[in-house]
Amino acid sequence: MAGTAVRRRLTWQVAKVTAVTVETASVRTITLDVPGWPGHQAGQHVDIRLTDEDGYVAERSYSIASAPGEPVALTVERLDDGEVSPYLTDELRAGDDLELRGPIGGYFVWEPDDGGPLLLLAGGSGVVPLRSILRHRERTGSTVPVRLLYSSRTLNDVIYRNELDIPTAGVEVIQTLTRHQPPGWAGYARRVDAALLAEVAWPAAAMPLTYVCGPTSFVEAVSQDLVQSGYRPERVKTERFGGTGGT
Ligand SMILES: Cc1cc2nc3c(=O)[nH]c(=O)nc-3n(C[C@H](O)[C@H](O)[C@H](O)COP(=O)(O)OP(=O)(O)OC[C@H]3O[C@@H](n4cnc5c(N)ncnc54)[C@H](O)[C@@H]3O)c2cc1C
Repeated sequence: MAGTAVRRRLTWQVAKVTAVTVETASVRTITLDVPGWPGHQAGQHVDIRLTDEDGYVAERSYSIASAPGEPVALTVERLDDGEVSPYLTDELRAGDDLELRGPIGGYFVWEPDDGGPLLLLAGGSGVVPLRSILRHRERTGSTVPVRLLYSSRTLNDVIYRNELDIPTAGVEVIQTLTRHQPPGWAGYARRVDAALLAEVAWPAAAMPLTYVCGPTSFVEAVSQDLVQSGYRPERVKTERFGGTGGT
């Protein structure tokens, strides 16, 4: 039984795109109908495989943006010089087929029983798996306290902006805009560093469970700062999206 489930997860299958939603100028959420989807955990990802007419294949990983129990959704940021992301954000339409395998990953996941308090740290599209965690918390009625610190370049780059603006009991959303801030901006206006973490992160003595996700350089700098401030390394989970970031 377990063997069948694992084989199924690692087998490529064809999903149908049911909707493509605009999040920002360069970010789209792609909702999928995946036949026989076995279910996923908050924080897991899938692999996507594109094959062109000449048989050239490109594979990339994308976090699952939706909560367990919701249709599988991926949120993809277009990298203008990228191979795969421009196709997913600009070409893909509802009704198209998309090859994927998953769900994948058992480390960067959160279940209500894992407890908290939760510290979620996102750089750019790194917010995607953290959104799945937030929705999972909400849907399961968990009351674990959460702080999300989310770094974007500008307000227009904030993904899930409307959703994050909705006040949710026990969830604090703290935003920083690193490149440009609109008039009257009440959030932070600098990159996430040790000083900013000291202001917004839970004290180390609270033994927070931390998820850091985004460009590799962001994840490495932030997780190092947290551990240096006394966070226990085994409670700081990291997911690197690649690239050097800029968030
Ligand atoms: C586990 C996992 C989950 C991921 N989840 C998501 C997700 O939810 N949403 C999402 O948009 N991306 C996600 N990514 C990143 C994604 O897999 C691709 O790397 C990204 O879409 C770029 O692919 P590309 O083919 O367009 O660019 P490529 O052709 O691979 O690269 C183009 C250029 O961009 C640089 N680059 C590559 N990746 C990044 C990056 N993430 N940031 C900045 N520069 C980069 C490369 O160095 C290169 O110069 C995830 C990665 C991993 C490993």
